[in-house]
Amino acid sequence: MKFDTVVLGGGMVGVSVAVHLQQRGLRVALVDRKAPGNETSLGNAGLIQREGVYPYALPRDPATLLRYARNRSLDVRYHPRALPKALPFLYRYWYHSRADRHAAIARSYATLIEHCVSEHRALVEASGAHALLRPGGWLKVFRSARAQQAELRAAGQWRDEYGVAFESLDAAQLRHDEPSLSHALIGALRYTDAHSVSDPNALVTAYARYFEKLGGRVLTGDATTLQPHWSVETELGRIDAQSAVIALGPWSDVLTARLGYALPLAVKRGYHMHYAARDGARLNQPVLDAEIGYLIAPMARGIRLTTGAEVAYRDAPATPVQLDAIEPIARQTFPLGQRLDQEAWLGRRPCTPDMMPIIGPANRHKDLWFAFGHAHHGLTLGPITGRLLAEMMVGDVPIVDPSPFRAERFSS
Ligand SMILES: Cc1cc2nc3c(=O)[nH]c(=O)nc-3n(C[C@H](O)[C@H](O)[C@H](O)COP(=O)(O)OP(=O)(O)OC[C@H]3O[C@@H](n4cnc5c(N)ncnc54)[C@H](O)[C@@H]3O)c2cc1C
Repeated sequence: MKFDTVVLGGGMVGVSVAVHLQQRGLRVALVDRKAPGNETSLGNAGLIQREGVYPYALPRDPATLLRYARNRSLDVRYHPRALPKALPFLYRYWYHSRADRHAAIARSYATLIEHCVSEHRALVEASGAHALLRPGGWLKVFRSARAQQAELRAAGQWRDEYGVAFESLDAAQLRHDEPSLSHALIGALRYTDAHSVSDPNALVTAYARYFEKLGGRVLTGDATTLQPHWSVETELGRIDAQSAVIALGPWSDVLTARLGYALPLAVKRGYHMHYAARDGARLNQPVLDAEIGYLIAPMARGIRLTTGAEVAYRDAPATPVQLDAIEPIARQTFPLGQRLDQEAWLGRRPCTPDMMPIIGPANRHKDLWFAFGHAHHGLTLGPITGRLLAEMMVGDVPIVDPSPFRAERFSS
């Protein structure tokens, strides 16, 4: 079978690319080894982070780094055996996290973030997935005045620089909005323009169904069978395409390395578990308890508790120690009932050392394109990535300047 383009990877990013290409009249095949949306894009915290103009940097203050090094933090853990491979990446991440470099990165990153909600809304509208999208923002809650003041300062800076909208809630307002949360919390900050999703897997599935409605084909296949110019093995046998897009999230470097690209991709792993709510307790919006390092979000399946980052080999066995350590604290914050999943879900955030995704053409192969490395914001940035890449591929004027996201920035 012949297509104009084969998109490899059916996560939020790949599905969004496929939709945008199909909308522009190309014949597109979307190939994944599973049904769309069943890996990283299934288990995230469901935030569409309009406020996320500064991607998550590595703290540079010695006290925090020492705390991480002790490997007992709830928010960040590491597998000691993964360190030899992780350290060069972490060094580059640390380098890019210096305040002035981070600010320069934010100037590029914010051009994508600015469109995250509007591009989701366009796809939600087209796919009829309104019920899955929740406007109204999300809450960062505070246990100490120091943390509250620090976040207020940061949010004020993001407002002045990039128009990020937020409101500050005192303890009484927080109790009014979220009566089931612990009364020990002293207040919160709500990022009001952000949206959230009640079932990230269902959202990817809805976008994929819309892609099929437009005439696109969703096929099961193994992306590692990709052969230049361009063919891949699928359930229908070999399919051929004029161009190929690699959107394999944390598995992207399996294929790019094979094609001769040395791109620095690492993973920050994370876990989730669902819980029933006890005694009729309600959670109206996602809540980040940043001083401890976890997030709880109301999802279709129950209250989803997600963890911070675990530095480990991508395919190392799951070690949900952060989840186990956080659960008793989360139970004090919100009346969580019994666990609803047999085991913790493990996901892998696909990260680059400069915190920005790789979006654009491959420089050593004609008609090969990249869309991966969205780290903490792949749900947020999927649709704008899809639009940007599709515009580049068909030769339209791109919605934002794509040059900061090109792969060549990592060529030495
Ligand atoms: C705990 C946690 C919380 C998060 N919270 C948020 C959040 O609130 N907001 C946000 O924006 N982001 C969040 N993220 C990040 C976000 O989930 C990811 O950035 C995003 O899902 C990446 O999407 P993707 O399409 O690039 O990758 P994926 O969703 O992983 O898709 C890659 C696809 O490639 C397929 N694939 C891999 N290898 C092959 C192969 N050989 N052949 C065929 N197919 C293959 C996989 O099956 C998969 O479907 C979170 C992540 C974690 C782990």
